[in-house]
Amino acid sequence: MLHVTPICAFTDNYIWVIHDQYYAVVVDPGDALPVLNFLLQQNLKLIAILNTHHHKDHTGGNAVLLGKYSVPIYGPAGEFIPTLTHRLREGDRIYLEELSLSFSVLDIPGHTAGHIAYFGENFLFCGDTLFACGCGRLFEGTAEQMYSSLQKLAELPDATLVYCGHEYTLDNIYFAREVEPNNQILNDLETSVMKLREQKNSSLPSTIEREKLSNPFLRCNQSEVIHSASHYLNKELSDPVSVFSAIRHWKNNFLR
Ligand code: ZN
Ligand code: FE
Repeated sequence: MLHVTPICAFTDNYIWVIHDQYYAVVVDPGDALPVLNFLLQQNLKLIAILNTHHHKDHTGGNAVLLGKYSVPIYGPAGEFIPTLTHRLREGDRIYLEELSLSFSVLDIPGHTAGHIAYFGENFLFCGDTLFACGCGRLFEGTAEQMYSSLQKLAELPDATLVYCGHEYTLDNIYFAREVEPNNQILNDLETSVMKLREQKNSSLPSTIEREKLSNPFLRCNQSEVIHSASHYLNKELSDPVSVFSAIRHWKNNFLR
């Protein structure tokens, strides 16, 4: 039986641990200490590290973990991460034997130029590309790239569990409600996520289905999203990439 457990790091990062009762894989260990503590507490042996992109809050713990466990470190072929042992790109598959777990790799540039995602079982680890009700900032890519990366993720099965790199859900919902004030799902989502957060629980995972119904960045062809984006820029927008670009800019400057 596989479990996926979040380890909190820094202010709002999640380091995801995929494990059974013996073995563990960690995704995006920005910090080593909380991972080492977790492995010790749960009596788990680390068998691999997966990185989605090069940012320090996702890779900063690689070297220390590698010092304690001699494990493969998988990550994007298109980015410089000094500790990587296996460089992955779209179409590659990895097999983690101890957990009988395999992942396929998706190229999802936009937040960073070489950002990748891992999809396997019904799990998606998407780093800082797709967030619950939001998406990552465009640090190294274009709106076109990010838009098509998000579309690629939206094509995964509805029931796919979405594990994101940060706990941004509630803030994202506040913004999404500005964009789509008449999307009733956002109301319900706000209530349920608020409850989870009050009890210090993670709002994740989401699902692809939930994201398609609630995430404005996946809804750039919906009339209310088009209308709000056009209103924000004060010009008539029609193609989804322009709509995406407008709401991404809007979100950058959004304070509740
Ligand atoms: Zn990042
Ligand atoms: Fe991050």
